Amino acid sequence: MLGHPRFELLLGDVEQAFELRVNKIYNLACPASPVHYQRNPVKTVRTNILGAINVLDLANKTGARVLQASTSEVYGDPQEHPQKESYWGHVNPVGVRACYDEGKRAAETLFYDYHRQHGVDVRVARIFNTYGPKMALDDGRVVSNFIVSALQNKPLTVYGDGSQTRSFCYVADLVSGLMALMESDYKQPVNLGNPLEFSMLELAKKVVAMTGSKSKIVFKDLPSDDPKQRQPDIGIAKSLGWEPKVDIHIGLQTTIHYFKRLLCAQ
Ligand code: UDP
Repeated sequence: MLGHPRFELLLGDVEQAFELRVNKIYNLACPASPVHYQRNPVKTVRTNILGAINVLDLANKTGARVLQASTSEVYGDPQEHPQKESYWGHVNPVGVRACYDEGKRAAETLFYDYHRQHGVDVRVARIFNTYGPKMALDDGRVVSNFIVSALQNKPLTVYGDGSQTRSFCYVADLVSGLMALMESDYKQPVNLGNPLEFSMLELAKKVVAMTGSKSKIVFKDLPSDDPKQRQPDIGIAKSLGWEPKVDIHIGLQTTIHYFKRLLCAQ
């Protein structure tokens, strides 16, 4: 993209205020992998809160529409299943995940306060687990961890007994969902994710089978506050004309192929 005449890359920190002429802003700043966002939790809170204030101030000045990448983590360890946007969530405010969960919740608060107080044109996407090519080898989230271990015939590490569930959305589906939401007139939070739900043990077995790996599955302690289940209700997203299209088998195949090439190139 760097060579494209209509593309410009500016490097900056969302924690600092900035001036730009824009008409649409996607605020995607913040690591989403627990390993990465917990490494410097204060920075994670600052990125979420100061970042939201800075993009909202910019939107307020320029009249731009602004979309916040929020998260299924606003639901915490949910007591409602599947999760609808109307659910207020069940988050431990002082736990190790709070820097991300509460940071994103405070960002949502800021988005709706700027909307009510200043008329800023906001969109909020609550993104569920997403995977696909271009993830880093050391991303630390479950799909990439399992695939990278399986391709190296190393043990796949399942935390807890592996009965906890997640619902995985392929990255291209997620991107089209974000764009559909940006272009829609809908201002309330919208879940974006794939409702197909898996236990982590099922996922580990599937990855071992698909890679033809000799890896064993081993079990380690569950990290604290790890949500037991997660599945989006995507009724609202569907009413806006979006739903995920990429089957998990095809998505995993594409991701396995990507990591295979990445490991070969090392
Ligand atoms: N997990 C696992 N092995 C790993 C990484 C993660 O069993 O190598 C589990 C983790 O405990 C959680 C689920 O997989 O229950 C999803 O974790 P991830 O870090 O991908 O994202 P989260 O949904 O927890 O933010």
